Amino acid sequence: MQRLLFIVLTLALMTSPLSCSLRNEGTFRRSEFLLDTIVTITVVADSENEADNAIEKAFQEIKRLGGLVDFFSPESEISAINRNAGISPVAVSPDTYALLEKAAEVSSRTNGAFDITVGAVVSLYDFHRKTRPSGALIKERLPLVNFRDVILDRNGQTAFLRRKGMTVDAGGIAKGYAADRAVEVLKSAGIKAALVAVAGDIRAYGLKPGGKPWKVGIRDPRGKSPDDIIAVLELRDAAVSTSGDYERFFMEDGKRIHHLIDPKTGYPARGVMSVTVVGPLAVYTDSLATALFISGIEKGLDIAGTFGYDALMIDETGGTHMTDSLKDRITLRPRTKTAPKPATRNFGIKGEY
Ligand code: ADP
Ligand code: MG
Repeated sequence: MQRLLFIVLTLALMTSPLSCSLRNEGTFRRSEFLLDTIVTITVVADSENEADNAIEKAFQEIKRLGGLVDFFSPESEISAINRNAGISPVAVSPDTYALLEKAAEVSSRTNGAFDITVGAVVSLYDFHRKTRPSGALIKERLPLVNFRDVILDRNGQTAFLRRKGMTVDAGGIAKGYAADRAVEVLKSAGIKAALVAVAGDIRAYGLKPGGKPWKVGIRDPRGKSPDDIIAVLELRDAAVSTSGDYERFFMEDGKRIHHLIDPKTGYPARGVMSVTVVGPLAVYTDSLATALFISGIEKGLDIAGTFGYDALMIDETGGTHMTDSLKDRITLRPRTKTAPKPATRNFGIKGEY
């Protein structure tokens, strides 16, 4: 119900020209519920018609990708791979293959902190019912978690899970991949500037009317409202993602049981509250945000550097840590301040304003 209300509110926010410049340029925004979340696309265009056509194409592309990687739909290619775990390789389409290849790259370059097979353990946590698995059950399932047992064959364009019971769940990378694809579609449709927000995975390019860069607010992980932000970031032809322990969690004996699971232990990672990653591609910012969260502050910042990406990490005491090159591109705000009426609402990353 809350979700529905949220959709309605978001739809109500959809506006025709948000701002105008000397030319006919305006900013147009639409939202749709795709990939199990709210996708908001904002484009700069000369007419509403041009904007609508381009945004519709981008939504269609995200819908198509969603159909390929949906963990819960028996028709998806991801489900076909999971059904055939330990049995046989499955031929997949170029997008599914490319996504799995990116996931494998991020896994090996983060020493397995990101692991697309972690679903075998993640699925044991129920954040609605507030239940978690016993240590014994985690121990039993943990051998099914290992990205090295996802066998990709580039020539045959197939994917194979080595052992029965293994699963791949693209949840930690698909939103970023989709944001990148949507941007390509908007560019092909002739859109010169846009911001695509797939929940907390955002990619922007070009400038807003008047030559201003896109800006996003980064949410305070312990803020009272989703509009409490700790930092504002300018995005110039870049992507940004946030992963936090406040997105899906429940409290048990004072401990926060959240959805970012250390693939080596099967338990929620400790020491970090939120991670924001900034860099050229959303497929990397999305997966790296999770990987850095699992890796902890010190290793996490190092990993960001090896990818040439920036990161802002908030530790368990609320302390902020960031890569050097981010320092002059981000404005930190006092903790309690509320954002000035954000134009969009999403999850880890708050608004575009
Ligand atoms: P959300 O999907 O809530 O936006 P993230 O983008 O941070 O959050 O991705 C978290 C999701 O990724 C989890 O819900 C889970 O399915 C999956 N996941 C959790 N831990 C890992 C991990 N170590 N490696 C890869 N995927 C993970
Ligand atoms: Mg992510």
